[in-house]
Amino acid sequence: MGYSLALTQLQVDYLCNKFNDYQITPFNNYTLFQAKINTCTITIYKTNTLLIQGKNEELLYQEICNDLNIESKLKDNPIKQQINNYIIQSLIGTDEVGTGDFFGGIVVAGAFVSKDKISLIKKLGVKDSKALTDYKINQIAPVIMKTIPYTVFKLDCLKFNFLSIQKKYNMNQIKALLHNTVINAMKQKVKIYDGIIIDAFTTSSNYFNYLKNERNVARDVILEEKAENKYLSVACASIIARYEFLKMMDELSELVGFELPKGAGKPVDTAIKKIFMEKGLNGFKNIAKIKFKNLDIYR
Ligand code: MG
Repeated sequence: MGYSLALTQLQVDYLCNKFNDYQITPFNNYTLFQAKINTCTITIYKTNTLLIQGKNEELLYQEICNDLNIESKLKDNPIKQQINNYIIQSLIGTDEVGTGDFFGGIVVAGAFVSKDKISLIKKLGVKDSKALTDYKINQIAPVIMKTIPYTVFKLDCLKFNFLSIQKKYNMNQIKALLHNTVINAMKQKVKIYDGIIIDAFTTSSNYFNYLKNERNVARDVILEEKAENKYLSVACASIIARYEFLKMMDELSELVGFELPKGAGKPVDTAIKKIFMEKGLNGFKNIAKIKFKNLDIYR
């Protein structure tokens, strides 16, 4: 059947630009631009009329309506519906914490929320860990960990520094390795699930590229941005990861004798100065990610 839209010149230019890489040669003189995107073809006629046709054409139609701020004729937004359908499924989710913090290592967690646990988990007040205070995290994480299957992988600073300096791995590569490790462990614990969602930190093709030398790569994963807001399993994973990261920071704070600040901002720079005066650069290798720029002025 297909969808058609009357476009302005600006909208035509926008779409020609957006789908430039997918362009195919138009088959007649009435056509200004034609592109094949996965299973669909879009045709823009010289009259500025757009035609969208092909399998799953409603998804592309909806995307274009969203882009151009045109009200869609579809009753339900199919993209949203797809996501909504997923939300009520039994999913494994993974997320990481600590990658933006100078002090402390990295924690990646995986969690499985089955359909029948969804309402129970919701009642605990689970949402994205970034929206929760440390106090609330410390309160609900132990309850979640008693309620659902989960896995935590902690990469301490020594190991992180080894991977980033000796092995020259970049941050996303390290994240990919850890997520894959956690997912493999989750797949040992949970045999029946509808999908695996990673809170996206890179594109899917980069992710698998980082893992190309790994022996055991879980291929049935979806990387989705802002997944911690959309999927309870990812939200749980992010809460568990943050809980474990807070514990790690407490231990390291005890080691240095004062509370280590999170993040990589001013308070961190102040703490760095203090530690450097006492112990020099060597004082950082087991408490911080020494490749961070914060340390550059001392090298
Ligand atoms: Mg994340």
